[in-house]
Amino acid sequence: MTTKVNSSAKLQKPPWLKRRLPTGTDFETVKSMISKNRLHTVCQEAQCPNIWECFSHHTATFLIMGSRCTRNCRFCSIPLGPLEPPDAKEPERVAETARTMGLKYVVVTSVTRDDLPDGGAIYFARTIEALRLQIPGVRVEVLIPDFGGDARALDTVLQARPDVLNHNIETVARLYPEVRPQADYHRSLEVLRRTRAWDGNLPTKSGIMLGLGEENAEIKAALQDLLAAGCRILTLGQYLQPTRKHLPVKRFVPPEEFDQWHRTALQMGFAEAASGPFVRSSYHAGELFQKVKKQYC
Ligand code: SF4
Repeated sequence: MTTKVNSSAKLQKPPWLKRRLPTGTDFETVKSMISKNRLHTVCQEAQCPNIWECFSHHTATFLIMGSRCTRNCRFCSIPLGPLEPPDAKEPERVAETARTMGLKYVVVTSVTRDDLPDGGAIYFARTIEALRLQIPGVRVEVLIPDFGGDARALDTVLQARPDVLNHNIETVARLYPEVRPQADYHRSLEVLRRTRAWDGNLPTKSGIMLGLGEENAEIKAALQDLLAAGCRILTLGQYLQPTRKHLPVKRFVPPEEFDQWHRTALQMGFAEAASGPFVRSSYHAGELFQKVKKQYC
């Protein structure tokens, strides 16, 4: 694997990142169901490149507590406030929509709500509860923020018994001030470490974007840190610049390098890994969970 960084301001997308959009009405059906139920998805808000594929297969990742954030991560297209109070009825609407979509594996994430006393942890818990009530046998993966390091907020989520606890470190330690200025690498690792200590049978998951200027040795160190924190499921994907105001892509990582990282991750000790240019934290999340299920359940 090479680590050569291209310093030109705007790189041309390589052929492996060009996709044909599928046709059909399923995409519009899911989109209108989400809008009719006054919900948000990270698929739409974060301009995920997989949205056509996922919506067309009737899957989506629900974004709770609004579509505005209290942080200003330089890679993310979700805008800063103004913030609205969380909607107490939103958990039921998420559950109802997931049921109508026929989901058996539901991924729930949120904007970061540093303005709320518990960072909004209670809304994760209520959403998990509502999903379990409406969809018997459902599996729920939560992709949570760091709750500002508030251990009690994390406990609130854990007590609701998600099936997978996902918290992305997003990038390597050195790039945190540039990429996630209001986050902290070690605080994020602590979320995973604490989860593992709380319940060793609960699969923990994390993800890293490649292409922001990280070196291979730094990626490897991040993987070691994740393993030491008890993380067992890994996702690696290509960073794509959402708008010109966001951090530029420093490098498009070829698919073969993603394949190599997949092998490396498994050799290092991850139970399962998804690694590829289009991999995102929630991409084919249910399938990834099925692969690791036997080790935990
Ligand atoms: S990969 Fe995740 S965020 Fe992207 S469209 Fe699919 S479900 Fe949504």
